[in-house]
This record gives sequence, structure tokens and C-alpha cells, in this order.
Amino acid sequence: MSKHLLIGNWKMNLLPEDASKLISQYVSLTKNSNRTQVGIAPTFLAMSAVIAECNSSDLWIGGQNAHQENDGAFTGEVSASMLQAIGCAFSLTGHSECRHVLGESQDLITKRSSGVLDNQLKLVYCFGETLAEKEAGNRSKVLQDQLLPIMELINEKNHNQLILAYEPVWAIGTGKVATIQDIKDSVLEINEIIKNTKPFCNAAILYGGSVKPDNYQQILAVQGVSGALVGGASLKYEQFLELYKISENC
Ligand code: PEP
Repeated sequence: MSKHLLIGNWKMNLLPEDASKLISQYVSLTKNSNRTQVGIAPTFLAMSAVIAECNSSDLWIGGQNAHQENDGAFTGEVSASMLQAIGCAFSLTGHSECRHVLGESQDLITKRSSGVLDNQLKLVYCFGETLAEKEAGNRSKVLQDQLLPIMELINEKNHNQLILAYEPVWAIGTGKVATIQDIKDSVLEINEIIKNTKPFCNAAILYGGSVKPDNYQQILAVQGVSGALVGGASLKYEQFLELYKISENC
């Protein structure tokens, strides 16, 4: 049976010292993990300290974003090849804050995703509709528009690197969770897109958006959901511990 995935996105939080302390708790927590693969995306600033703490653990460390070029005149950026070189296992791309707060276009996100795949990292590709898009009845179109360009990058060699994180924008950091029916409908549509484009690909599908100990069991029970991408609750050891326990026992 494949493991559940529990990926924490620390966003722009925790200086290296605090990040090291929290990751060392996660290293201890996941030492005898049976059913759960944990991954954490710290800030680039804390990355080296966090990786040093992880040493011989199974925990995955990854970037919150990555540039597609290996190096060069790209101020403020860190490349997928750099992440790979310092020991990262994955990178997020397409996070809603990158799309909707920082203004990244789908074209840029697709290029970044391509760089992540080309550097043999797992690609945790984030996508999902805004509240306005949902209310206008456009969820399916958004899923298509955001997923099809990524499926074009997928082939028989790299398909195992793909992890899909469905995150309705209106549920991220807001305390509003999508209903179980919303999640079921979206997962069905996502699987349909995969089947119609790259049928050999069996990418894990994660849900993200205000995942907390009191809603995670129900979410993880949805057919086709393999885990969660977690923001706020990944910064609090007690909450993350509860999510991890649910994941181990589900
Ligand atoms: C996220 O950052 O991807 C996220 C889902 O955040 P939160 O869990 O805080 O909603």
C-alpha cells in the first residue's frame, strides 16, 4: 500500500534556529513511520539548517518554489537544480499565493514546473479555483486550464515525480474547508483529466486548504485523496502531531 503524504508549507515563517527546533521534533515524530511520508517546505533561508537536522531521516525537505534555469541573472530566485544539489526531494509550484498575491502567470508556473521535473525532484503542483471562479460555476474550467499545461510535461519517465495538490484558493488560510462533496467532485474531475491525457500517470492527489485535526480524517477518507498540503497546522507541533496520527491510523 502506498504511503499517505503529509506536506507542510511553512511559507515566510521561522528563522533558521526555530525552523531547526521544529524540524528536529518532526524527525523524532516520523522515525518509525509506517503509513506516512512527511515533507516540509521551509524558507530558503532556513533550508540548510533544516536539511542538516534531517540527516539520516526519511523526511522530505523541499522548496516553496523554484526557478527553471540552473543559474544566472534572476534576482531573488533559487533554482530547482540548486534545491536538488543541497538535498531537497521536492518543490512546490503554482501555490495560490504565488499565483494570486505575487502575480505568477500559468506560463511561468509551467516553466518552473518543467525545471523541477528536469532536475529529478518531486513536483508538488498546486492549483485550484478562486471564490469568484467557484461562484461563477467555472471550477471545471479552472482545473482544466491549470492542469492541462502540466500534464503536457508528463511522460513515461517522469510521471512518478508528479504530486497534485488541489487547493481551492478560498480555503487557504481562511478556516473555510471545502465540503466533502466539493473535494469528491474535484478529485473525480482531476482523475478524468489525467486519464484523458496521460493514462499511465497515477499521481497522488492531495487536498489543501485549512486542514486541521478536526477535519482531516474525513478528508483523508475521500476516495482518491492521498494526503494533505498543510500551511498553518504545519507550524504548530501539537496540530501536526494530530494530523500525523490520523494519517498513520487511517
Ligand atoms: C497552504 O499554504 O498551501 C495551505 C493549505 O495553508 P492552510 O493550511 O493554512 O490553509
